[in-house]
Amino acid sequence: MIKLKTLAVLLAGAAALTSQAQAADTELNLYTARHYQTDENLYTDFTAKTGIKINRIEGKEEELLERIRNEGANSPADIFITVDAARLAAADQYGLFATVDSPTLKAAIPAHLRTDRWFAYSTRARVIVYNKLDVKAEQVRNYEDLAKPALKGKVCTRSGSHAYNLSLGAALIQHLGAARTEEWAKGLVANFARAPKGGDTDQIKAVGAGECGVALVNSYYLARMLKSSKPEDRKAMERIGIIWPNQGSFGTHINISGGGMLKTAPHKQAAVKFLEYLASMEAQDYFANGNNEWPVVAGVKLSNRGLEAMGGSFKADTLPVGKLAESVVEAQRIYDRAGFR
Ligand code: FE
Repeated sequence: MIKLKTLAVLLAGAAALTSQAQAADTELNLYTARHYQTDENLYTDFTAKTGIKINRIEGKEEELLERIRNEGANSPADIFITVDAARLAAADQYGLFATVDSPTLKAAIPAHLRTDRWFAYSTRARVIVYNKLDVKAEQVRNYEDLAKPALKGKVCTRSGSHAYNLSLGAALIQHLGAARTEEWAKGLVANFARAPKGGDTDQIKAVGAGECGVALVNSYYLARMLKSSKPEDRKAMERIGIIWPNQGSFGTHINISGGGMLKTAPHKQAAVKFLEYLASMEAQDYFANGNNEWPVVAGVKLSNRGLEAMGGSFKADTLPVGKLAESVVEAQRIYDRAGFR
């Protein structure tokens, strides 16, 4: 027979358990600009491990950001995931992200790939591609080379107001200073083979076709093309040389995919758990490989023949992503003055 005192203790324990269960989040609202098949595995795996269901809102980067801002204090969003440091910085400047003080995240993600409020989970490089029949590798070793008169009429790129080019401009401001970056932007514009148009893949194809001599592109688009079995893609890639820029100076510009927890997140516990999960070994593989990117966590083995075909290791710029973000607005002003639209 249970003594009265024991029963009381048991009841108190049960009550504590119930209230804990009520407090624990059972779902998580994820606003994400990523939509890769492998991300699906990521969500399923997280739910299997934690029992937390993920509700996903997908959209274009800028649209999601607008949506979160419009929803304001009532936003159901717990986590915002997007690509490019410039966009995460914008979200941060609007005051959307909460500070997340997680020893797990600090231990897993290198210091230059995180801030107090948002975290990088994969990296991509902005590299130079050139048409081997038209341009010599020696002519395009550095970003600075793209502005030299020798490349007149040969340079192609997507729009200067696109986040990828703004982040590169921000990095150049940090390394070379604003004045030299403006000179660079003017030289770049003077070298255009055509007015900026299309995405990075369009630039790769145009370089392959000889319409452009050289272009700036993100590494994952190249990896994707290198994996392509389409005969026209294979032909284009045979004609293209890839340069990891600035190996003798500050290193190749690196951008990121990343995310953070929103200040207004209704499920803060689950949100932090998810951010920490993304930095786990298993999740890193899904997250990075899904878009042919590199993991941020050291020791994650990646087997991706597209990335391997691009050629081994390179010196990456270690400029902190938070620092980079500080110069994005200035980069836009410089591009505007230089006519890089
Ligand atoms: Fe992209």
